[in-house]
Amino acid sequence: MIDYTSRIFVAGHTGLVGQAFVRRLKKDGYINLILRGHSELDLTNQQDVIHFFSQEKPDIVIICAGKVGGIYANFTFPAEFIYDNLQIQTNLIHQSYLGGVKKLVYFCSTCAYPKYADQPMVEKSLLTGSLEPTNEPYAVAKIAGLKMCQSYNCQYGTHYLTIVPTNLYGPYDNFDTQNGHVIPGMIRRLHHAKENHLPEVSVWGSGTPKREFLFVDDLVDACLFILQNNYFENQPVNVGSQQEISIKELASLISQTVGYFGKLSFDTSKPDGMPLKKVDTSKLDNLGWRASTNLASGLGLTYEWFLNNRGVLL
Ligand code: GDP
Repeated sequence: MIDYTSRIFVAGHTGLVGQAFVRRLKKDGYINLILRGHSELDLTNQQDVIHFFSQEKPDIVIICAGKVGGIYANFTFPAEFIYDNLQIQTNLIHQSYLGGVKKLVYFCSTCAYPKYADQPMVEKSLLTGSLEPTNEPYAVAKIAGLKMCQSYNCQYGTHYLTIVPTNLYGPYDNFDTQNGHVIPGMIRRLHHAKENHLPEVSVWGSGTPKREFLFVDDLVDACLFILQNNYFENQPVNVGSQQEISIKELASLISQTVGYFGKLSFDTSKPDGMPLKKVDTSKLDNLGWRASTNLASGLGLTYEWFLNNRGVLL
C-alpha cells in the first residue's frame, strides 16, 4: 500500500502523464505531493537533482519527465531524445536509490519493442530484434532506463517498477501539429480545418498502420492498482486498452469528434512508423485490471480540454 502521507515526487508534473497523476493523487487524498517546474529544477543536471533529493527526501518517485514526441519530432531531434531521457532517468533512478526511495515508477515505451515483434507484443520480446529507425534513439534511452531499474532491483533490492504503456492521449498532451503524437496533432489540424472551412485535410502516412490508444487516466489507474496491490516481479508490465484502430479509422473518428466533414487524404511521403503496436496485457488481465475509457469518449474528453485550453497552447 502507499500511505496517504507518503512524500510522492511526481517528476514532470506539467505533462500529459504527470498532470494525470497529480489529478488522481489529489482526488484520492494524497497530501504530500512534491512538484517542481522546469524553471525550479533541471532534471538533466546531476548536481541539482542531488541537492533536490537531499532537501526533499521523497518516499516514492514517479518519473513522468522526459523528452517525448511523435514520429516527426523523434526523427528531427534524435540527439535531444537520447540525451535528455538518459540524463533525466539516470539522475532520478540513481538518486532515488541513494536516497532510500522505496518505490519508483518508470515509464518505458512501446517504441522499445522490436519493429517486427509478434503482435500483441509480450514483455519478453523486448531486446529480441532491431528497432523502428524513426525512434531508435528514444527507444535505446527507454531500454537503458528499464535495464537500470531491473539492475538496481537485482543488486540493491529496490522495487523500481517499469511500465510499458501503449500510445497515450488525453488532456495536457502536446497539441503541436509538427511535434506531437497523432491524436493531439489531428485534433488540432481537423479543428483548424473546420474553423476555416477547408475542403480537405492531409493525414500523414498511408493510414494503414494500426495503433492501440490508452486514455492517460487509465494508465494512472493501472499504476496505482499495481502499487496498491504490491505487485512486483522485476519485469516490465504492459498497460493497454485492447482498443486497436488503423490511422485511417482514427482520422474518421476524430473528424466526427471535432465535427469536420471535409475529405481526408493520405500523404505517403510522410513516415508510417511501426506497422503495428499492440501490447499483450495478460499480466494485468490476470491481476484483474482493465482500462475503463473507450476511445470515442476519451477523444471527446480530450477535444473538450483542447477547446477550453487552446488559447494558451503554442
Ligand atoms: P508512433 O506511434 O510512435 O508512430 O507516433 P505518432 O503518434 O507520431 O504516429 C502514429 C501514426 O500516425 C504514424 O503512422 C503517423 O504517420 C500517423 N499520423 C497521421 N497523421 C499524423 C499527425 O498529424 N501527427 C502525427 N504525429 N502522426 C500522424
